[in-house]
Amino acid sequence: MTTITLRNLRKEFDDVVAVNGLDLTVRDGEFLVVVGPSGCGKSTTLRLLAGLETATDGEIRMDDRDVTGTEPKDRNVAMVFQNYALYPHMTGRRNVTFGMNAGGSFTDEEINRRVAEAAETLDITDLLDRKPQAMSGGERQRVALGRAIVRDPDAFLMDEPLSNLDAKLRIQMRAELTQLHAELGTTTVYVTHDQTEAMTLGERVVVMDDGRIQQVDPPQSLYDFPANRFVAEFIGDPAMNMIDVAVEEGVAVHDAFRIPLPAGNAADETGSGSETESLADPDAGDRSHAVLGVRPEDLHLARERPDLGETEFDATVDVTEPLGDSLLVHCSVGDATFKMSAEPRSSLDPGGTVSVTYDSERLHLFEPETGEAFY
Ligand code: ATP
Repeated sequence: MTTITLRNLRKEFDDVVAVNGLDLTVRDGEFLVVVGPSGCGKSTTLRLLAGLETATDGEIRMDDRDVTGTEPKDRNVAMVFQNYALYPHMTGRRNVTFGMNAGGSFTDEEINRRVAEAAETLDITDLLDRKPQAMSGGERQRVALGRAIVRDPDAFLMDEPLSNLDAKLRIQMRAELTQLHAELGTTTVYVTHDQTEAMTLGERVVVMDDGRIQQVDPPQSLYDFPANRFVAEFIGDPAMNMIDVAVEEGVAVHDAFRIPLPAGNAADETGSGSETESLADPDAGDRSHAVLGVRPEDLHLARERPDLGETEFDATVDVTEPLGDSLLVHCSVGDATFKMSAEPRSSLDPGGTVSVTYDSERLHLFEPETGEAFY
């Protein structure tokens, strides 16, 4: 069991700053997911943890050990890659055990016992005598996981391991990875660009952009209390609506509506519900303008949610998209457009006017310049 600590970790490639000063603790036994758009630095971070890249600055500790400058083989971590990285000419068994008896760290008996255990855990016993070309993508990734777990590493480092699988298999393997983690309890850092994967797998999720950590929190806290506009728009599908408003005495004002904001502010809530530092800034400057954020699923047809009371405004229906379990309604109000989730068989005509309601507890306000949440 291992705690991994990153202090001001930095990696530059010539003039590209891939990782720009990360401070992070991966807790003992935690399943931590790092998510972000392409190029944000997540793979580089994982490769720094594995020792496959050398840090430009900063420190990596595993428990009490400073491993920043150590070789990959001296870190006792196991990496699982997107492309499985199996040797095509070797059987499943040889792929799983490759290199294990070098250096005499394991006896043959120990290796056989570990392979049998891993094969049972991963249900790959039948694959041990096959070569990779006779395995499906999902089977190959199971064998690659087998290779990681037989070594009983201090940590698993996984780089988009499910990306090459079809959608159905990905969902199945997601559940299997969660179960595997529950059984083994090994500290795991898992990199993905897929926010659904991040939300379903992570005990905590690190959202990265542009080489920096934007927020670290459990999935539901990220969704409910995004620290800034980037996180708010990255987490959630369809994305959160963003509308420029003026803020006048606790009311979000737009040409076409006035939305009273509830008392208190989100900075108080992030203080209690989030692990990211409170964004409340008592010295913040002009807050007469803001970006109002509201998720499509937090907007409703007033006729479908009479319980939400008098929080209503009128909008025009532009387009409707049936999603099966809901109807996504594209609306406009004045010069602003937004999406709203309605009951699946709500009949709505494009061009018609609808009365829209919302739960005022689920509104967000962001600074127009910095994008930081302040409400
Ligand atoms: P993706 O999801 O596309 O793999 P990522 O978030 O994992 O993206 P990284 O692969 O960590 O991003 O790359 C971060 C930045 O560093 C990018 O701008 C990338 O072009 C750059 N980079 C990564 N590796 C190298 C390298 N070996 N040489 C030069 N630049 C690199």
